[in-house]
Amino acid sequence: MGQEDLREKGGVTYRELRARSLLNKCDSPRMPFAWTVNPYRGCAMGCRYCYATYTHEFMGISPPEEFHSLVYVKVGTEEETARRLAAVVRRGERIALGTATDPYQPGEAESRVTRRFLEMVAKHRRARLGITTKGALVLRDLDLLQRINERSELSVHVSLTSPRADLLRRLEPLAPPPEVRIEMMRRLTEAGVETWLGLAPILPAITDAEADLDLLLEEVRTAGVRHLFSNLLFLRSPTREKYLRWLEAEFPRYLEAYRRAYEGRVYLHGPYRQRIRDLVDRLKKKHGFAGPAAEEDQARPARQLLLFE
Ligand code: SF4
Repeated sequence: MGQEDLREKGGVTYRELRARSLLNKCDSPRMPFAWTVNPYRGCAMGCRYCYATYTHEFMGISPPEEFHSLVYVKVGTEEETARRLAAVVRRGERIALGTATDPYQPGEAESRVTRRFLEMVAKHRRARLGITTKGALVLRDLDLLQRINERSELSVHVSLTSPRADLLRRLEPLAPPPEVRIEMMRRLTEAGVETWLGLAPILPAITDAEADLDLLLEEVRTAGVRHLFSNLLFLRSPTREKYLRWLEAEFPRYLEAYRRAYEGRVYLHGPYRQRIRDLVDRLKKKHGFAGPAAEEDQARPARQLLLFE
């Protein structure tokens, strides 16, 4: 792999990263997919809780905040990606696009790595693809997504945990506001694409209020979405230190409770976890969402957290 700066935009440096293929094998048999695709390393959306922050440590980069200001764009991968993709589709294996970083983050407007990958997928029949994103740029590719959906298995998972734009501006500074993400879901659903609400990560004391979740599920269901998965905040180093620094600045009253709750663990268990599970199940039933119970939902993204490329 070699690297070279491409450009600087909006305080984010984009650097080229030569990679052999966009498709990477996921070796865990417990994962619901066999291959992952992450066209970028680093993500400009800036989410304070972003679990993928540690992947920059493998590039020798710290502090963790740089995960959001130095983004690597994978290049030079098309021939090997096309070859692997043909074999993956032939074997009927599932592909997850966006397991570690957002494939529709701001840099994609210019780099178009995600779009080029989707163009390859669109040439196949019976591909099996799931996309996870917060980026409204996904609508740019609606034509391709429809084409893929006609010939293959496709689902898009849009992450959104609160209907409160003011809160999300502080929490996910470069991600689109809730009304834009709900509109994304509406348009994807209208285009016939299986669309999921990714209610993840739910942040204790910050995005777990029943009234907020109730309103969010109502609005998303009204947009036509029928599927939902959920997950609680997962805190491992260096995200843990980064998130706690943010909490200290923005919500200092919760700092001690977080420190105690996450002491010696990366994931919450016990009565709080059960309460959130029951709440999500109840709201899913109330608003008519289909899909697995929250118990199973929560296992799914938690396993994804272990992934990186
Ligand atoms: S959009 Fe996803 S990958 Fe990007 S910063 Fe937010 S949580 Fe991390």
